[in-house]
Amino acid sequence: MSKKNEKKLDPKELAESLLLSRKNGFQKVSEKDLGKSEKFADAYKIFLDSSKTEREAVRTVVALAEKEGFTAFDPSRTYQAGDRVYVNNRGKALILAVIGKKGCKNGVRISAAHIDSPRLDLKPHPLYEQNDLALFKSHYYGGIKKYQWTALPLSMHGIVVKKDGSVVEIRVGEELGDPQFCVTDLLPHLSADQMQKTLAKAIEGENLNILIGSQPLDCDEGDNLVKLNVMRLLNEKYGITEEDFVSADIEFVPAFHAVDVGFDRSMIGAYGHDDRVCAYPAVMAALDVKVPEETCLTVLADREEVGSDGNTGLNSEFLRYFIADLAQAEGLEPRHVLSRSKCLSADVNAAYDPTYASAYEAANSCFLNCGVCVTKYTGARGKSGTNEAPAEFMGKVRAILEKNDVLWQTGELGKVDGGGGGTVAMYIANLNIDVVDVGVPVLSMHAPFEVISKLDLYMAYKAFLAFFEAK
Ligand code: MN
Ligand code: MN
Repeated sequence: MSKKNEKKLDPKELAESLLLSRKNGFQKVSEKDLGKSEKFADAYKIFLDSSKTEREAVRTVVALAEKEGFTAFDPSRTYQAGDRVYVNNRGKALILAVIGKKGCKNGVRISAAHIDSPRLDLKPHPLYEQNDLALFKSHYYGGIKKYQWTALPLSMHGIVVKKDGSVVEIRVGEELGDPQFCVTDLLPHLSADQMQKTLAKAIEGENLNILIGSQPLDCDEGDNLVKLNVMRLLNEKYGITEEDFVSADIEFVPAFHAVDVGFDRSMIGAYGHDDRVCAYPAVMAALDVKVPEETCLTVLADREEVGSDGNTGLNSEFLRYFIADLAQAEGLEPRHVLSRSKCLSADVNAAYDPTYASAYEAANSCFLNCGVCVTKYTGARGKSGTNEAPAEFMGKVRAILEKNDVLWQTGELGKVDGGGGGTVAMYIANLNIDVVDVGVPVLSMHAPFEVISKLDLYMAYKAFLAFFEAK
């Protein structure tokens, strides 16, 4: 109870000092940051178009990093503060490291993103002909809504390893004038049965067949002449035979390029924002950080979209082994370095979408243009399958963001029991490292065309850089 004769409280003043208010970032950030976010977005779009698969992303980033003085890590060498190294894990995952003034005795700072995205992979025996059409059998990778992948221009990316061990690169459908490919869909006129099915069942995984040819080989007799003609063309261009698909990693992805979205050009629409929209700013933070106090790592992982299993995913030991190399070079016990390390798991969250409002709980969702999203936990069914950042680490990260004028927000992945998802956070936390998810809000996540805000993208960069530079 308060005394009656005290000064009357002003609710407006009190609310300002005590309550949360959510403001659109455009009303909060400086002109300078707005200008910088525009430039950052332009470079990001170029990165996206050159990095549509994990292999392409690794190649692009290695080239960028080498230009900035990064060299391939050699565990037998000793490194000094300011040295910049990278570890290329099988061409599909990458670690960039900048050696800090104090090395890793206080632990390392990690920003960990992933560079694989949902897509259609080819089966080992993909090529077939049916009713005078040549097609590829695919096996989708990651969580997709299959109906979104029909009647959409696709490009082909990947490598084929031939019997003699030589490697052939394939990238078709990205350059002007290239042919493109597609999965067909049934016309509405004949879809009476299909339209009765649920979205999950209307397009079957086994029907995601990619149309690749229709012209038979020019000859008078023989079977499967359309298929044979396609194989002849592939052989002419790449020197491969049908059997070579057995030792190939071929991915079909949306063929369109990254574009501005909206009359105000405030957003970017593209394939694969999840998670290149965090990978790119994490890379730029590693490239731009001045000699840091603690050694800083940017990790670009593969296999996140299928659960992080496999030796290029973060459920393997490749990150732990690298940190052990750094620790041993300084005469430190690797487990002590791990337990003192800190990590931002750089992955996207689902931006609130007013068209599907019922899937979200507005007070705990992240919004476009409200900045980088700090996600305390992901998971499903009562916080299962997730790392939850403890209050202490949330507090530290929050303080770093505030101190460095990073526009940030917090958000859960949709409503309780609405579904769920995970990130690499829990695998890194399992190494006894402090981890929290920090990333960019995305609309239409996992769709062939995802949307993000330029402002949020730039704030992710500011967040990762501030984390690396924090004392
Ligand atoms: Mn992701
Ligand atoms: Mn994802």
